[in-house]
Amino acid sequence: MGEFDVITRYFSSLGSGEFVDLSVGDDAAALIVPANSELIVSTDSSVLDTHFTEDLFPEDIGYKAVASAVSDLAAMGAEPLGMTLALTLPSVDDLWLHGLSQGLARACHEYSLPLVGGDTTRGPLSLTLTVMGFCPRNEKLLRSGARVGDKICVSGCLGDAAFGLAVMQGQYRGLELDFDDQEYLVARFTHPTARLDLGCRLRQRATSCIDLSDGLIQDAAHVAHASGLRFSIHSASLPLSTALVSAVGEARALNYALSGGEDYELLFTLPPDTGVPDEATVIGIVETGEGVDCDILSREQGYDHFH
Ligand code: ADP
Ligand code: MG
Repeated sequence: MGEFDVITRYFSSLGSGEFVDLSVGDDAAALIVPANSELIVSTDSSVLDTHFTEDLFPEDIGYKAVASAVSDLAAMGAEPLGMTLALTLPSVDDLWLHGLSQGLARACHEYSLPLVGGDTTRGPLSLTLTVMGFCPRNEKLLRSGARVGDKICVSGCLGDAAFGLAVMQGQYRGLELDFDDQEYLVARFTHPTARLDLGCRLRQRATSCIDLSDGLIQDAAHVAHASGLRFSIHSASLPLSTALVSAVGEARALNYALSGGEDYELLFTLPPDTGVPDEATVIGIVETGEGVDCDILSREQGYDHFH
């Protein structure tokens, strides 16, 4: 099977959408950007053995690549337009490609993000996704707008994905985990949820926003730095899932929540008088100064890092 057959069979049926004028099949795609809005663009690469391992199902590789890319649109407060996929394959493996396209299809559908084009080449396995979205002009969410006194908020629960990865890597072989909890925690790693809806609702409300890909402490430091202020986080307020706490206890769960990556939740700041969305928790306050301050970091020696 040649390049064109691969494209036709696996990647040409996911390309229609509200803002798509021209999709897979021509020299380029054409998307309609609504009037008075800005085009928001982000690219992410997933490379075998750097971002995922061979034992991950191709469905999960496809789904996760899209979800993690879409998460950047969510963090900007953008609505989805479409995406392109640059795919490098060592060989044409039908079963694997079928799985990949199933995962892509599920994510395309879930996030209303059609696959409108791409490139297919031979080489070491990698996927590069470029996601495109739009925001009403001047309403995009930035990392740089936090103000002193703002509430620091985070969506969902933290640390589950990093623990799910550790379980997949066999780090907790001796631990007796509840089956449903284990399934939930591993799925938080393999099937992260990008918070597109929340990102849009935060426009004109949040003063800053970032998605959590590298762990709370690291990502909060990016926003603190961009805003020129200090983020003070209360460890007792961090949202932890009951599954994670019952698996490893609260102290270790907190470590995962602070340092574990790939949760793809949103971290954002709200002015003191702005209501907090239902799916979010207030975890601290913005202060003058710099960096990230968290009670548990200054209190505990021998603090573990999970990256
Ligand atoms: P060109 O030589 O003009 O770059 P290609 O042969 O690379 O064209 O691609 C043909 C069509 O298939 C283009 O519309 C391109 O966007 C699309 N395409 C190629 N690879 C992929 C892919 N992995 N996913 C989605 N669309 C793809
Ligand atoms: Mg090409």
